[in-house]
Amino acid sequence: MKLWRTLNMLIVLAVLSVMPAGPASAQNGAAAAKAADRRPVLLISIDGMRPDAVLEADKYGLKIPVLRRFLKEGSHAQEVLNVNPTVTNPNHTTLVTGVLPAEHGIVNNRPFAPLAKLPKGFGSYSQIKAPTLWGAAKKAGLTTASIFWPVTRDAADIDFNLMEGSDEDDAKIAADAVALIEQKRPDFLTLHFVTFDHKEHEFGPFTPEAHASLERIDTAVGQVIAAQRKAHPNTVIVIASDHGFFTVTHQVNLNAAMVEAGFITLSSDPEPVVTSWRAFIWYVGGMAMAVLNDPEDQQTRAQLDAFLRKLAADPANGIERIYGREEIAGLGLSAEAESVVALKVGYRMGNAMTGPLVQPAKGGAHGAFSTRTLRPDMRSSFLITGPGIPAGKNLGQIDMRQIAPTIAGYLKVSLPSAKMPALSLGE
Ligand SMILES: [Zn+2]
Repeated sequence: MKLWRTLNMLIVLAVLSVMPAGPASAQNGAAAAKAADRRPVLLISIDGMRPDAVLEADKYGLKIPVLRRFLKEGSHAQEVLNVNPTVTNPNHTTLVTGVLPAEHGIVNNRPFAPLAKLPKGFGSYSQIKAPTLWGAAKKAGLTTASIFWPVTRDAADIDFNLMEGSDEDDAKIAADAVALIEQKRPDFLTLHFVTFDHKEHEFGPFTPEAHASLERIDTAVGQVIAAQRKAHPNTVIVIASDHGFFTVTHQVNLNAAMVEAGFITLSSDPEPVVTSWRAFIWYVGGMAMAVLNDPEDQQTRAQLDAFLRKLAADPANGIERIYGREEIAGLGLSAEAESVVALKVGYRMGNAMTGPLVQPAKGGAHGAFSTRTLRPDMRSSFLITGPGIPAGKNLGQIDMRQIAPTIAGYLKVSLPSAKMPALSLGE
């Protein structure tokens, strides 16, 4: 195991050493002055980390000294109002663009593909339709790097992008990040730790298995930030997450009901496959999005609306509310979403196309419909530290779209597509 790790590390180092060095920055006077107060930024995402995991670590018995030190030494948000759908790919893309999913194009974890058994996830960087922090940094002549950040496959804006191997080996991610920092000294580095999210899905949030995972990530983060501070004493370090989590008690197989009501037709041999559909429910998690095959089909629209509201009227079905087109306008959801089916706490959508509508289920989920007032369990985390950043400051509730312009400010790069104001950190 140890030898394997060492070999793997040598391979990474070899790959790094043959990669081209980052472009030299512009040499005119204005650029030089700007570069003088430029701050290198390390952005670490801990997938699925609720803010209370750090803020109330004692209550949960979590031993995460590195993350807790951020509360004392730096500033933090009480909670981050993230974007719908509250799942991984849309929120990670908002973290690096500062805009809503409808603007950056990553509108769910997977594109809408009702005929596919398991649609391919969003993954390619070219699917992002808005300018990113890596792109802005590259334009300014900075060196960019990333390890396992979602939706970055074939990203020309990232000079050193490590996406090979297992994304579940936190210690190796940390070792690779340290090597990258020491050898390439990137001005902007993004890291994604995903194992905590996987354990929360499997066992539920705030379980011993999930806690052990976050504690391992805490150690890994400690190693990375030590290397980063050594390489860049004036660095700004941001820890963020993409969404919260809830404990699952039931799953709701909405498309099984849609089949029974005649909106979806299945072939039955050898196993059920969708052959045609007039309306389909697009999986998210704690919510779902209803999609019409033909948006001009007013008859199906009316039938679908009546059908979903009838389902929602029976409390046993686990549906909190149906949000119609007018109610979800402006939230930045996919243009394909006709309505949102918001499920109750404890309920997530299931993907069965036949059988009962509601079944008992276990583990954890996210992706619930979240607003300023609904589902605080979906909120994400933000912690920031570095020289000059106020110590012990609670920023209250912040909007996730404020994070990218804040980072752009430290890097002294231009990201005009991000319209929300940068966070006020008293400098
Ligand atoms: Zn996630």
